[in-house]
Amino acid sequence: MIDEADYARFLVRRREEILERIGAAAARAGRDAGEVGAIAVSKTVSEREVLLARRAGWDAFGENRPQELVRKTEALSGEPEMAGVRFDMIGNLQKNKINQVLGRADLIHSISSSHLAEAVSTRSAARSLVSDVLLEVNVSGEASKSGFAPDDLRAEVERVVGLPGIRVRGLMTMAPAGDADAARRTFCGLRELAEELRARTGLSLEVLSCGMSDDFELAVEEGSTLVRLGRCVFDQGYALR
Ligand SMILES: *Cc1c(COP(=O)(O)O)cnc(C)c1O
Repeated sequence: MIDEADYARFLVRRREEILERIGAAAARAGRDAGEVGAIAVSKTVSEREVLLARRAGWDAFGENRPQELVRKTEALSGEPEMAGVRFDMIGNLQKNKINQVLGRADLIHSISSSHLAEAVSTRSAARSLVSDVLLEVNVSGEASKSGFAPDDLRAEVERVVGLPGIRVRGLMTMAPAGDADAARRTFCGLRELAEELRARTGLSLEVLSCGMSDDFELAVEEGSTLVRLGRCVFDQGYALR
């Protein structure tokens, strides 16, 4: 059994440490820390812990499964403290689950193919919605990772950004685990690809969603505007290095 008051204090302390580290990483790169947002990835915790995290100051959460996003947003919808809090869909999205997240997720980070972009486009347009999305890119080229191959995205971006019912706000990637140099190259590659696509499409593509617990400082140094943090926010056993 965790002591709730202790856990609430941990969440506050940890958030301060994380924000300090984001600020320091931004400063090292000559960036303004105000350009860097963070979402608390709540996929492993209950609504109760989300509420405690909200009280600790977190105002944006991420879920990787549609059912869980629905369950948490519904369970928390009556809580006055949760007003204005954002929930993003960050995980693999199957076509038959799209309708569950439309209108509920503030930003879908994981548009990993032009087929999925088309499906979200069609379903959003049918409901007169314009869904904010990020295009997920497999920058590192690992077979285990989903996302557009960079060359496929170069070839398809103009068509994808022209689809109705979606607004492409930027790019997202996941770095290889446990290899800082490879992670840095991945984040740098995402930023360079975004610059190229900005020039090509005229879109601002202002969101670069990259960086997780193990590598968020590297991601901020390399230009991330949105880090997605799970274990380092919620797990008392996770040591920030
Ligand atoms: C779980 C998850 C995260 C957070 O990972 P941590 O290592 O726990 O910070 C970020 N992004 C996605 C897509 C995830 O599934």
